[in-house]
Amino acid sequence: MRLLLILWFGFLALLGDEGYNGKSIILTLPSPSGTIISHDRNISVLSHPTAPTQGIAILPIDYYAALGDSNLTWISPAKTSLIPLTIKSIPYPIETLSVDPALVTPPLEMMERIERERLQAKEIYEHFTPIRYWNKPFIKPLDTFITSEYGSARTYNGTLKSYHGGVDFRARTPIPIQATNNGIVILAQERYYSGGTIIIDHGEGIYSCYFHLSRYDVKVGDYVKQGDIIALSGESGRITGPHLHFGMMVHGVQSDPLDLITKINTLFETTKEPHEEISVK
Ligand SMILES: [Zn+2]
Repeated sequence: MRLLLILWFGFLALLGDEGYNGKSIILTLPSPSGTIISHDRNISVLSHPTAPTQGIAILPIDYYAALGDSNLTWISPAKTSLIPLTIKSIPYPIETLSVDPALVTPPLEMMERIERERLQAKEIYEHFTPIRYWNKPFIKPLDTFITSEYGSARTYNGTLKSYHGGVDFRARTPIPIQATNNGIVILAQERYYSGGTIIIDHGEGIYSCYFHLSRYDVKVGDYVKQGDIIALSGESGRITGPHLHFGMMVHGVQSDPLDLITKINTLFETTKEPHEEISVK
C-alpha cells in the first residue's frame, strides 16, 4: 500500500535536517542528480566524493536566515521530493572594536572603490564553476590560535556595523599562508576593507578567502594545490592588529569556514547512509 501511494503520487519526502544560521548542512542523497530548491536559491546536487553513486548538496544557511521550519525541494529526473528543514539560532558573541574612524565611515572619495569591490566580490562568489578542484579534505591555512570566531556581532567605534564573516588566526609577525585545498586563484589584489586579498575558486560554488596579507606568492589564474604557500600574513585593510582572516563562501553565502571544512571533510572519512525515503500523506 505504501509503495502504491508512492507510485501514485510520484512524490516522496525525505527525512528532515536541522541547521543553524551561519553554518552549513550537507545533505546526502540517494543519487547524484538534480537540484535542491530552497526559498532563496537553487543548489546543484553533486556527486559524493567517496561514494559516487550517491549525491550531496552543500547547503549554506545565511547568517540572517529566517528561523523555524520550512521545506527544501529536491527535483531530480526521477522524482520530486520534499526535505523538511528546521533552522535554529546560535547565540553568537558581541565584539567591540576600535579602528581608524575612516574605516568605519569611509571618506566619500572611497565610496566608489568600496562599491566596485563589493560588486566584484559578489560576482565572483555567485559564479558556479562546474569543476571539482576540492578533491581532498580541506586544511586550515595556518595553525595558530584563533583570536576571533565566525559570527560575532561587531561594533566598530560604538556603531554596530556587521558580523564577523570568517575566522581570525593569530599572526603577529608575517606567517606563510597555505591554500586550504586545490583550486584556481581568482583574485589577488589590495582592497579597501580586506587589504591584501587572495580568493581561490575550489569549484562547484566553493571559494576560500585570505585577507590582510602582506605578500602574494601566487597570481590570478594560477592552479594551487592544498598546502601550497600562497602568501604571507600581514596587517593591511580594516584591522586592529596583524592577523589572518580566513573565510569560505559557498553558493554566494558567507559560511562559518571551520564548520564547513569539518563537514566536508567528514565526506572523505565515512560514507553516510543517504536519507531514508518516506511516503507523503
Ligand atoms: Zn576577520
